[in-house]
Amino acid sequence: PIVLGIESSCDETGAGLVRDGRLLGHAVASSMDEHARYGGVVPEIASRAHLHALRPAIRRALDRAGLRLSDVGAVAVTTGPGLSGALQVGVAGAKALAHALGVPLHGVHHLAGHVAADTLEHGPLPDPCVVLIVSGGHTSLLLVRDLARDPIVHLGDTLDDAAGECFDKVARVFGLPYPGGPAVDRAAREGDPRAVALPRPLTGPRDAPYAFSFSGLKTAAARWAEGYAGRELPVADGAAALQEAVADVLTRKAVAACRDHGVGTLVVVGGVAANSRVRSLAEERCRAAGIALRVPPPGLCTDNGAMIAAVGDLLVRAGAAPAPLDLSVDPSAPLERAALHPVAATA
Ligand code: ATP
Ligand code: MG
Ligand code: FE
Repeated sequence: PIVLGIESSCDETGAGLVRDGRLLGHAVASSMDEHARYGGVVPEIASRAHLHALRPAIRRALDRAGLRLSDVGAVAVTTGPGLSGALQVGVAGAKALAHALGVPLHGVHHLAGHVAADTLEHGPLPDPCVVLIVSGGHTSLLLVRDLARDPIVHLGDTLDDAAGECFDKVARVFGLPYPGGPAVDRAAREGDPRAVALPRPLTGPRDAPYAFSFSGLKTAAARWAEGYAGRELPVADGAAALQEAVADVLTRKAVAACRDHGVGTLVVVGGVAANSRVRSLAEERCRAAGIALRVPPPGLCTDNGAMIAAVGDLLVRAGAAPAPLDLSVDPSAPLERAALHPVAATA
């Protein structure tokens, strides 16, 4: 069947269509401009924006795929983690559609979506692989076997801020526009990363090998900027140095996790995987270590509906039991729940 995926956990409204692991078409609408003057996502504004954007996003995804609503054979929707009100808009819409079309409904963990995004470009994930999830709310190293059957093994997490959060907050201090990650990436092109010395947190021999910390790096970058009070801040250099520090720590630990566990494939997913330096440094270091690297195209790294459809498609093909129509949102769904309902899968 053709699976329609719906994503509304934060400020992107996404709709995507997937059949048998292949992306047929997708569309994303973002309310980020409406949040820009507040410097961060305002939940109430996000919910309202999803309400307006959901139907047009589904329409555009169908148009791009050359399909009609009646071609949809299953609906998958993000149930969490994310903003409660935002999630509820997507879940309500998905329920209504599934009920009206008389097709099964599946709830999807947002982070399983980020992981599955890569399968749309590069095919099924190898078993095992190490996954680095780097996004606005998460920075985690995972050992993944069969996403549809096996529990995800959690290797490490950030102890404080997520990598994307670090980009977003430092960008604000640098006077760059919201959202900060893409703005830092753009500004860094003209900068010299060696012009500013920034720390590489938790990379010492006695530090937890797979734990991350970005709040000290954020503070160090802010201190550097404060040193320019009254003078013009060399933003490009600061951006380049910040990006280099984040990319260095992320890729160093991810490659070490592969090496330590004898795993031959690293998968980097989530919004920060769109970062040009994270991509190029991961490429460099994986090549040197003889590790295969998989990173989704930038448009599938940030939130989208295609990745949710990809998980729905995996669930459908694994024979997972559909969700009941009283399916509820799970705003703080833990990462452990990202494995695709192994108990619901039929033999
Ligand atoms: P989560 O997935 O953890 O719930 P989220 O859905 O808000 O959080 P994503 O959409 O996956 O996060 O990613 C958004 C984050 O990615 C933001 O912090 C944004 O600044 C960052 N980001 C996007 N593009 C880039 C880029 N080119 N360079 C660095 N960061 C980026
Ligand atoms: Mg977003
Ligand atoms: Fe996300």
